Amino acid sequence: MSARILVVDDILANRRLMQAKLEAKYYSVLLAENGPHALEVAHSSAPEIILLDVMMPGMDGYEVCRQLKASPETAHIPVVMLTALSETADRVRGLDAGADDFLTKPVDDFALMSRLNALLRYNAVTNELRQREASGVKIGAFSEDEASTLNRPVNVLVVDTSPYNIKRLRDPLEQAGHRVFTLDQADGLKQSGNEKLDVVLLGMSNQGYDPLRLCAHLRTNDATRALSIIVTVDERDVDLAGRALELGASDVIQQPLAVEELLARIRTQTRRSRYVEILRNRVDRGLELSVIDQLTGLYNRRYMNNQLSLWMKRSSMGGTPLSVVSVDIDHFKKVNDVYGHEAGDRVLKEFAERIMANVRPKDIVCRPGGEEFLVIMPETGGDLACSAAERIRRAIAAETFDGGTRSASALEVTVSAGVATFLGDEDTIADMMRRADDALYKAKSAGRNQVKSLAA
Ligand SMILES: [Mg+2]
Repeated sequence: MSARILVVDDILANRRLMQAKLEAKYYSVLLAENGPHALEVAHSSAPEIILLDVMMPGMDGYEVCRQLKASPETAHIPVVMLTALSETADRVRGLDAGADDFLTKPVDDFALMSRLNALLRYNAVTNELRQREASGVKIGAFSEDEASTLNRPVNVLVVDTSPYNIKRLRDPLEQAGHRVFTLDQADGLKQSGNEKLDVVLLGMSNQGYDPLRLCAHLRTNDATRALSIIVTVDERDVDLAGRALELGASDVIQQPLAVEELLARIRTQTRRSRYVEILRNRVDRGLELSVIDQLTGLYNRRYMNNQLSLWMKRSSMGGTPLSVVSVDIDHFKKVNDVYGHEAGDRVLKEFAERIMANVRPKDIVCRPGGEEFLVIMPETGGDLACSAAERIRRAIAAETFDGGTRSASALEVTVSAGVATFLGDEDTIADMMRRADDALYKAKSAGRNQVKSLAA
């Protein structure tokens, strides 16, 4: 992995030293010697990570960081502050300016490389999502829902075998408005449904469990994969922290622990994971919009074709049957002509609801267009598909439809349906659809309001 890293430092020797370290690990390095230059390079060269010196004449690192995070073009680039100051207040100031991490000079190689790896992993996730994000909404333009995602209370799970440690963490966290859970309360959290954990605080030293194993487990388990894991570690267990970072921990805090730093790191981690969550939702919604028919909420033709080819492939390989039912509303044109399109749309909507109420969860109901509907029935043979189609037909004919106006308040609606089954390897989507349509035509010409299938 050859990531581009921007190194910002006012002292030439520091820049050269950092450049040598990074290039030895095959990173490519960009350099800047002051704040304005750093902002310029960040905009023109799109580095993947910025290592930013705090103490610089003119514009200091805090201000550079604030400006980077305020600009939509650079806000997503992780910033690691490098500081000779080891005071907690300075670190907190950096995190408050939007820094993603910080390291104390002289920079320990191991700590540097583990942080870079963790940040590049984070980049990989967000870049993928940013690319797939259909709407192209810029960072910072959050909807109301998204803002409430960002601002909801933070749920922290404290994993530690020492009641003393737990208490020492719980008090300041709760004072900051976070909700704190311990392992014996975790099940209760799960059961309460919409509760989501944000951060796990994992004690590394002197525990009654194997913290590395737990860390790896949290990372590989689907339900907890997206969690931020912050490990707390004694000074003498630094290599344990390194291994935890390699296994996917998001951040490390050294004991003895400073409360302000803990709170600042939780804030940073939570902001990051919620940002990922928001991007994911945007991508999902974009995908959903592209496959759903807006009037009825059923799947559109594009999704129908994707699913058909998928299920045909599965059926060929696994030998399970596959059927489709083509459903068409009888004389639908008359509804539109006599009662208007609004009444027609109401009928289509209610029709969709009745179909959905009368199919199995695995059936895929599509509206490829107009008054045509197609139900894909996976793992279903012809006979079963015919009786399923018959159930739909009855559900439509059983009660009148409300077209929304007095004259159209009790419309008699019926459907005709044609059933086709998949014939194996040689069969194509077009052929199967043609057979379903032929069967549908047979049902129409036999007097409508009935189900037909073609003998294969
Ligand atoms: Mg300096």
